[in-house]
Amino acid sequence: MPVGTLASVKGVSQDVLEELGVEILLANTYHLYLRPGIETVRQMGGLHRFMAWDRAILTDSGGFQVFSLTGLRKVSEEGVAFRSHLDGSPHFLSPEKAMEIQIGLGADIIMAFDECTEYPADAERARASMELTLRWAARCKNYFEANKYEVPWSNDALLRRPLGSGARPRLDGAEPRRHTDATQALFGIVQGGMDAELRRESAVRTIDIGFPGYAIGGLSVGEPREVTREIVLSTLEHLPADHPRYLMGVGTPEEIAQYAQSGVDMMDCVLPTRAARHGLLFTSEGKVSIKQARYAQDENALDPACECRVCQRYSRAYLRHLYASNELLAQVLNTVHNLHYYLATMRTVRAWIRGGHTSAQR
Ligand SMILES: [Zn+2]
Repeated sequence: MPVGTLASVKGVSQDVLEELGVEILLANTYHLYLRPGIETVRQMGGLHRFMAWDRAILTDSGGFQVFSLTGLRKVSEEGVAFRSHLDGSPHFLSPEKAMEIQIGLGADIIMAFDECTEYPADAERARASMELTLRWAARCKNYFEANKYEVPWSNDALLRRPLGSGARPRLDGAEPRRHTDATQALFGIVQGGMDAELRRESAVRTIDIGFPGYAIGGLSVGEPREVTREIVLSTLEHLPADHPRYLMGVGTPEEIAQYAQSGVDMMDCVLPTRAARHGLLFTSEGKVSIKQARYAQDENALDPACECRVCQRYSRAYLRHLYASNELLAQVLNTVHNLHYYLATMRTVRAWIRGGHTSAQR
C-alpha cells in the first residue's frame, strides 16, 4: 500500500496511481483529522469521493502518529491527550474517538486504536502496554459494531442526506458507491514489544475479541532488523492464514518480498515515496542516488529492466538535472518509478504464490 498521508500520494495524481496498478492506498487519520478535518471529508461523501479514488483505502488509527509526538502527549486508560504538531492546539484521542473519526472518513479498512510500545521496553512495561491495547481493542470493536452504518457512503447515510447537499455528481460521471448494508472492515492489532511469548498472547487474545483481519504493529520502532524479522515470523504462526495478515510500516523491496513469501498479505511503507523525494531510487541493479555527479551525462535509463513510464522515456542525466535544479518534476518522476518498482516486486511475489509456492508457515 502506497502511503497517501493527507489523502494524496505526494506528487502523483490518482489517474497515474491507477495506471501504476495501485489497488489500495493508506491515508493517515491523525493528519486528516487536523487538516481538512473529519466533518469536511464526511460532508464530501467520505475519502473516496473527496479524493476521487474508487479503489480501496485503509486508514490507520492515528495511534502511531500520536505516540510519535514525544513530549506532546499524555496516555491514560481513557486515551491519549496530545497537542497538534501544526499549532499546538490540545486534542484527545480515545478508542471510541478513533473509531468515530475513521467511520467519518469512510475508508474500506480501518484500524483499532492501539498503544505502540516504545523500544526498548522492559517486561513489565511491555505487558502493561499490551494489556492496554487489548482493552482498547475491545472498546474499538464495541463502538464500531454500534455505529458501523454511519459511514458516509452507507445507504442509511445517503438516504438521510437532504437532496442537493453533497450530492454533487463526480466529475467523471461515475455513480457514488452504493451498497446495501455495506460498511467497513475493522482490523485488530497485535502488540507485545519484542517478546515472542507476549506477542503470542496478544495474538490469541486479539483473535478472541474477533476481527476480519489482523495487523502486526509496534515494529520498525528502532529495533535491529533481525529482531523485527524474528518477531514477525513468530507472530505470523499465531494468526489465522484465512484472514488478512497486515504488517505495518515495512520495508525495503527485499523485505517486503521476504515477508510476503512468509505469509504476510498486506504492508504499507513510506519508503518508496519518501526516498524518491530525496533522490533515492530502487532499481533491479540496486539503489541509485540520482543526485550524484556521475550521472550528469549518463544516457541510460534509470533502470534498464524497468517498464515504468519514467524509465521508458527519460535518461539518468535528465533525472539528475531535474533533481539538482530542484524541479517539481524530479519528485513526481522519482516517485512514479519507485512506486512502480515496489508494485512490480509485489506482482512478482503474487505470481510466485500463484505458481504453487507456499511459505514455511502455511
Ligand atoms: Zn522505472
